[in-house]
Amino acid sequence: MKALVLEEKMKLSLRDFPIEREEVMGPRDVRIKLHTVGICGSDVHYYTHGGAGIFQVKAPMILGHEASGIVVETGAEVTSLKVGDRVCMEPGIPDPNSRATRLGLYNVDPAVRFWATPPIHGVLRPTVVHPENFTFKLPDNVSFAEAAMVEPLAVGVHAATKAQVKPGDIALVMGAGPIGLVTALSALAAGCARVFISDVDDTKLELAAKLGPITPINVARQDLGNEILAATEGWGVEIVFECSGSPRAAEVVFDPLCPAGRVVFIGMQMHDINYDVGKAMVREARVEHVFRYAHVFPRCVSMMSSGAINVKPLITRTFEFEDSVRAFEIAASAPKGEVKMQIALPQ
Ligand code: ZN
Repeated sequence: MKALVLEEKMKLSLRDFPIEREEVMGPRDVRIKLHTVGICGSDVHYYTHGGAGIFQVKAPMILGHEASGIVVETGAEVTSLKVGDRVCMEPGIPDPNSRATRLGLYNVDPAVRFWATPPIHGVLRPTVVHPENFTFKLPDNVSFAEAAMVEPLAVGVHAATKAQVKPGDIALVMGAGPIGLVTALSALAAGCARVFISDVDDTKLELAAKLGPITPINVARQDLGNEILAATEGWGVEIVFECSGSPRAAEVVFDPLCPAGRVVFIGMQMHDINYDVGKAMVREARVEHVFRYAHVFPRCVSMMSSGAINVKPLITRTFEFEDSVRAFEIAASAPKGEVKMQIALPQ
């Protein structure tokens, strides 16, 4: 089948790629015709760097993991889905018998197989076989484009859950990229009264400010700690969500934090970082880390359907599948003003 293949670092091709072995259906699997696939920062990172941390691209790999589509075939034991259903898919499949999975921590199962994470192929291709249990039916009022945003939204929802947001909390989100924005939306949906968001890109901050009670702070011009303290009567925010992945941001996570506040690290740090444990101690700060998410797709879909969360303004550009190499070249240039770029597959 024709797929978007990362041959090696900085080399993509749209070509025939044989993956028969992975297209064999089990009794509890469904075959899905892909409709929309989002371009994720991790896809772009594999393209530009050939790997991320322990995950290195050693053989040609299909990219893409933020996906929606239509069920075209069901295994003999599938009960919850039928041919023609519109769905989104959770891209990480854990070992159901692993210790982590049995403890309810399947996202940190060392054996998890996650699309477009070497050596597992992604879904920028016509069809995929996927377990029924990780495939979620869409309500009529959730579009395929929105459904392909469920995957990044799940990260924000998982982070807000880890932060134990209480009604009326004030939060700071560091980084106004796609993950920062879905985290801000999730924090508001979880009950935050107000969210500050910091970045150096005015176009992203302007977009963020239109999404709800979100106050932008441009850290190229404004001092983050001072701005937050001035806006909170010197108290600080209850929660800091670090979504930038920047070591410089990580160094100052405690400065705007109130006593007994929570910090959640979401943005992937590619290298060792320093943070000030002394500042954490005097606040009795609670520090959490998130890695993807565990079983929040149904919540994300229902929040999109009810209107509790609107991700549509985050989708800024859509490419045809035939243009996917160019789409990645553009994504790799970090264009200003683009938040989520998606690829629509031929139907
Ligand atoms: Zn992603």
